[in-house]
Amino acid sequence: MRSTRFKKRGPWIDLVLITSILSLIGVILFFTIINDDFSLRDNEANAAHSSIDSSITEEKSTFPGIRIISDISNDPKLPFALQYPQTNDELFNSMIEEYITSSKKNYINAMRLKKKTRKDEALSGELNIHFDTYQYDEVYYSFVFTERMSTNNTATKTTLKTFFYNIETAQVLDIRTLLGEDTKSLETFSSHVRQLLKSNNDLQNLSTEEVDLATEARWILFDKFAINEDNLIIYFDEGTIAPIEQGPISVNVSMSFLNPLLAEEFQMQMVEVDAPVEGLDDGTKKRVALTFDDGPHPQVTKQVLDSLDRYNAKATFFMLGNRVQYYPEIALDVLNRGHEVGNHTWSHPVLPKLTEEQIMNEFTTTENAIISAIGQESTVFRPPYGSTTDAINAMIPRDVAIWSIDTLDWKHRDANKLVQSVKNQMHNNAIILMHDIHQSTADGLNGVLDYLANEGYEFVTVSDIMPYVQ
Ligand code: ZN
Repeated sequence: MRSTRFKKRGPWIDLVLITSILSLIGVILFFTIINDDFSLRDNEANAAHSSIDSSITEEKSTFPGIRIISDISNDPKLPFALQYPQTNDELFNSMIEEYITSSKKNYINAMRLKKKTRKDEALSGELNIHFDTYQYDEVYYSFVFTERMSTNNTATKTTLKTFFYNIETAQVLDIRTLLGEDTKSLETFSSHVRQLLKSNNDLQNLSTEEVDLATEARWILFDKFAINEDNLIIYFDEGTIAPIEQGPISVNVSMSFLNPLLAEEFQMQMVEVDAPVEGLDDGTKKRVALTFDDGPHPQVTKQVLDSLDRYNAKATFFMLGNRVQYYPEIALDVLNRGHEVGNHTWSHPVLPKLTEEQIMNEFTTTENAIISAIGQESTVFRPPYGSTTDAINAMIPRDVAIWSIDTLDWKHRDANKLVQSVKNQMHNNAIILMHDIHQSTADGLNGVLDYLANEGYEFVTVSDIMPYVQ
């Protein structure tokens, strides 16, 4: 039966069989090759660490607990130089390695892809990753990675990545944790960063619209940062708020501004300068409080601050809200240089002539301008012209400070008369009224400081002298 059937097979069956077998082989071969190709590429990328010819070295750093790894390519067609930190914490290490490996993969894949499609031997590229380390309060490390990549003659693209890490608890933390998850703090912080960007003379090409968008009060917008003992540094990637040629933009938020916004565990302990109210001295100590009203002023205030610095003198500046609004960076400079910031109303009215509501509005709008500029409230209030009532003093939620010596600097506008008027009226625990909006006041201040220092007076703030004033 079998042989009979076999013999009956026609030539068309052979044709069908052979065709089918050949097709099958073809299909199998096709999938094998494709598969090989896929797995080959996958392996290359995954084994980027090992299969690419590179030298990996490890060295100690000056930061306790941090080692530096360098991974430098030996393949001139695939150049890269990568540097990254490692600690004793496996989780942190693998997170950093993951970031480095993924950047490396992107680079290698992009280089291979272009090489395949263009077959051009002259193509070149580069990947460079280096990092900066900032330390804060001993246990907090900020790692700021700068990644510069170009593939096959494309323009170099710079990308930043930051990690904020507590080496003691092995935790990676974000800006939200740093500011205690407080949205009020975020609002104050973001408007301050906006202010800093807009007032920075080195950053003239910023797009106002982009800056406004990039500094909205949203946590995610401030996720690239580093912190050291002096500043919190916020980074913006290239092309986000400035033309791409300018590269990434960074802005320093001073610790004087930031400290009160930080979650408690991150706050720096301020050195207490306030004298205890009772029992500090026997009353023979000589002290004076210099006060400067109606500023800030872009030139005069700066000159006044420089003079005060020379004598290591602390003073009090009673600021007008409508001027703080225009010169927030000067208000901040006053605070940063150790002086006291007082509220002197928004528009300098005669307060007893106003309604309660208008008075509170003068106070509050100025407070808001001060908070936005320096990140904290004023600590003392002075009514314009010293004009006030008990009812007003009770209404204002600050100590109200007038003066005991009026230099009349606004009237005579004479540097010599300024010095003379202080000499004529000087007494212990004096509060001296001057104005940091007149050039003659700034010019005469050195003479005033020189005289008072020689007489043995210590220069203190209004809040510090109040307990000694009858
Ligand atoms: Zn005034």
